[in-house]
Amino acid sequence: MTRPRILVLGTGGTIAGAAGSATGGGYRAGGLALSAMLDAAAGLGLEAELVGEPIAQIGSQDMGWDQWSALHAACLAACGDPAISGIIITHGTDTAEETALLLDLTLPAGKPVVLVGAMRPADAVGSDGLRNLANGVAVASDPQGGGRGVMVVMGDAVFAAVDVRKAATAHIDAFRGFPRGPIARVTPSQITWFGPPHRADAPASYAWPQSLPRVAILTAGAGMDAKPVEALLGIGCKGIVLAGMGQGNAPGCVLDALAAAAKAGIAVVRSSRVDEGMVERNVEVDDDARGFVAARALGPAKARILLQVLLANGISDPAGVQAAFDNL
Ligand code: ASP
Repeated sequence: MTRPRILVLGTGGTIAGAAGSATGGGYRAGGLALSAMLDAAAGLGLEAELVGEPIAQIGSQDMGWDQWSALHAACLAACGDPAISGIIITHGTDTAEETALLLDLTLPAGKPVVLVGAMRPADAVGSDGLRNLANGVAVASDPQGGGRGVMVVMGDAVFAAVDVRKAATAHIDAFRGFPRGPIARVTPSQITWFGPPHRADAPASYAWPQSLPRVAILTAGAGMDAKPVEALLGIGCKGIVLAGMGQGNAPGCVLDALAAAAKAGIAVVRSSRVDEGMVERNVEVDDDARGFVAARALGPAKARILLQVLLANGISDPAGVQAAFDNL
């Protein structure tokens, strides 16, 4: 039986991190080349052929347009290549949710695309990187792995891009899903899916843009004034995501300034600085009157990505933006 061929796109992160000591505290994300990781993986006895393609060697805090464009192009080519069964992206954990959602919105859903990372550098005692990679290989080569959109595999769990977020800074069980938890449990030898593929053969939801417009996240805090809103408009933001208190709240003066911005054509999305939960329309804030959009289940980081993609695709009116958040 031929082994599935999996394309591994390397970007760096802690999974490629080198501490130089098994027990030290500091390390450099992206210090190891993808080839070193694949050499280590070659000793695991995986039932797949891994083909490496380095894209970057950075901490994912530096992830941006250039790397995203290269990733998107490589994934799209692999989606059309009958020799490739699935795609793994090795990625830092800090912004995995952003890259995952961006690709989820802009790639067809046919083949599995899986982001894997690590919370401990490759040379640290108890490093989780190779296990997450082995789990990613299991997902990317599973015939049931396609049609589920982009996924993040961490800590023996599989999360859909729309749900996943990093919820802890350092410990090994750092990822959570909301509103859905994991969509599968995985080990290198077994996968248990909790439901059927829901996007089988679906085309990309949005076109890959020429560029991403400037959209900022504004975190609300007690006692703040409206000056940060003015500052964001002053630097040319086309959209603002409010990381609001509770269900997307902010002091009245801030909401007034955001409403004025919305009336002037700036897309304003209310999300929450709270770890988890829905932000619904017209609860404490009159979104209808103020021209706002409610982020529903999306936290600020992913709401920003979705808003950037929408604006880049010419969708900027509150009703159209709200429909996209509703239908995610
Ligand atoms: N700062 C690192 C990164 O996102 C953290 C990690 O990978 O866990 O690249």
